Amino acid sequence: MWICPVRGCQLELRPRPRRWVCESDHSFDVAREGYVNLLQPQDRRAKAPGDGREVVAARRRLHERGITRGLFEAVLELADARRGDRIAEAGCGEGFYVGTLAGQTGAHGAGVDISTPAIEAAARRYPECSWAVANADRMLPLPTGSLDLALSITGRRPLGEFYRVLRPGGGLLAGVPGPEDLIELRGVGKDRRESVLAELGAGFACVETKRVTTHVRLDASAVGDLRLAIYRPAGVIEPGEVTLSLDLMLLRRRDAMLET
Ligand SMILES: [Zn+2]
Repeated sequence: MWICPVRGCQLELRPRPRRWVCESDHSFDVAREGYVNLLQPQDRRAKAPGDGREVVAARRRLHERGITRGLFEAVLELADARRGDRIAEAGCGEGFYVGTLAGQTGAHGAGVDISTPAIEAAARRYPECSWAVANADRMLPLPTGSLDLALSITGRRPLGEFYRVLRPGGGLLAGVPGPEDLIELRGVGKDRRESVLAELGAGFACVETKRVTTHVRLDASAVGDLRLAIYRPAGVIEPGEVTLSLDLMLLRRRDAMLET
């Protein structure tokens, strides 16, 4: 499932008891929770990069309350993942989207995030999927042409790497916050779809878009979690109804060879 993250190596990693090893003998320990840390020293700008433990726990509680259920249903519908498909999410956080999608469809799921606490939580909650700590901006530690579907749900979009790891014709499901997302807190945001589609270049074609908007009722403790989750610990959010909105775009990886 993983390839070696050492610069210039990128050979496939093979599972050994408690570690993954490439043919050049680069070795990566498997954590007790079952994930592997593929972060290289040059990937680390901070000592503990990415979301911290408190933020990860708050996001997990929000998902467990079901407030993102409606968003997930739209992801499920558009993703069209099937049993046996290989799917992976870049910037997966605590694993909710790819973990749930894999669980409901029988696809093989994998997730990459730069935050160790997030991957640790993902591996605990969705042990049937594969999880790695890595810097998706630099590389996705997945073999070339190995994926049927890649996910980026309000996460990073390393398009060159998505192109490399997807099989020809594979899908990339990209999600960005819709203009009404958390409108109670932020006011109307901008429509981000144009800028995502403008990034695509020749490697991907957009086949379908979908906007999902849901209204969820939050009590005081859920409001506290939401503040942490969006990095506004001091922001004023009253308990009550909150709008969540996601703009989803299903993109198809083009195959240059087939087009000529
Ligand atoms: Zn290696």
